[in-house]
Amino acid sequence: MIRRFLLATIALASGADFTVGTATAPSGRKATGFIQVAAGSDAATNVPVIVVNGSKPGPVLALVSGSHGTEYASILAVEKLAQVADPASISGTVILVPLVNVASFQEKVPHLNPVDRKNMNRFYPGKPDGTQTDRVSYAITKQVVEKCDYLLDYHGGDLDENLRKYAYWPDTGNAKLGAAARSVVLAFGLDHIIIQNMKSPVPPGGPITLTRHALSLGKVALAVEAGHAGTTNAEDIDALVNGTLSVMRELKMLPGEAHRVEHPLWLGRIATVSSDQDGIFYPRVVPEAYVTQGQIIGHITNYFGEKIRDVASPVTGVVAYIGAVPSMKKGDTVANIAEIAQDPQP
Ligand SMILES: [Zn+2]
Repeated sequence: MIRRFLLATIALASGADFTVGTATAPSGRKATGFIQVAAGSDAATNVPVIVVNGSKPGPVLALVSGSHGTEYASILAVEKLAQVADPASISGTVILVPLVNVASFQEKVPHLNPVDRKNMNRFYPGKPDGTQTDRVSYAITKQVVEKCDYLLDYHGGDLDENLRKYAYWPDTGNAKLGAAARSVVLAFGLDHIIIQNMKSPVPPGGPITLTRHALSLGKVALAVEAGHAGTTNAEDIDALVNGTLSVMRELKMLPGEAHRVEHPLWLGRIATVSSDQDGIFYPRVVPEAYVTQGQIIGHITNYFGEKIRDVASPVTGVVAYIGAVPSMKKGDTVANIAEIAQDPQP
């Protein structure tokens, strides 16, 4: 009897099927599958995808995480959203791609895709005949970015990064996109928002992130970050899950009111401190700390334990990120210090 009732319910659903990769969800249903990326100059890969096709019409929201496969809190957040998303209560469609960089996750390699040693959030829109990162980026462009109206890209502190939760507001110079992204980022609810300058074009061959490419296609796209150094704290995962559900309320994809952040701290220019030597790093400040220009934020010793360098903050601002592990090689980022900015659209 129960089975017959379910079949009757499906037959009543009137909306169209929604397909991403091998996942096809009829209206009012959830489907899982893979975005299949064939072998080329290197190995094939299957990127998992979940499609939640709401029973009522509405926008298409894409949730993408795991381009850095060891930023675990962000991956677990999208996995949890895939479980809690109920097509019966959703207006519109949610495409969830929880793990773009499967090889990074499996091999526990931070920052890069170990198959071709490329950063999987730098090569959009990708190409069908490049290495695996290029081919995956191309498939995500075609299957996810081009099919969505809104896109959230989830990150966090990687295995070697100690980071505070924050979101980005992309400043593209396009007033309409800016206003739409502002309502999304405020609804997400994180109280630190970095203003990301996307007005100047990327030079030929320069890095193009997922959100930058999506914005160039007129999609409302932004990145959020929580978690650090391999941890999977409930507080970080919940911040990403609840922020996403609040955005869905803001977009009228779920009933209820969004929980907008009232007075976020807006952060502007980011000063990156890099190490000019190999050595061992000892941080002296934590993420979110306010530091002044010239303040010592850590030091580096040689492999004999002798201090070879104090690391000073080049600006007054907030520690957005600081090295989480002692390994420090020449050229590595020691810290990012974000300068406090004014609300860009008060
Ligand atoms: Zn990342």
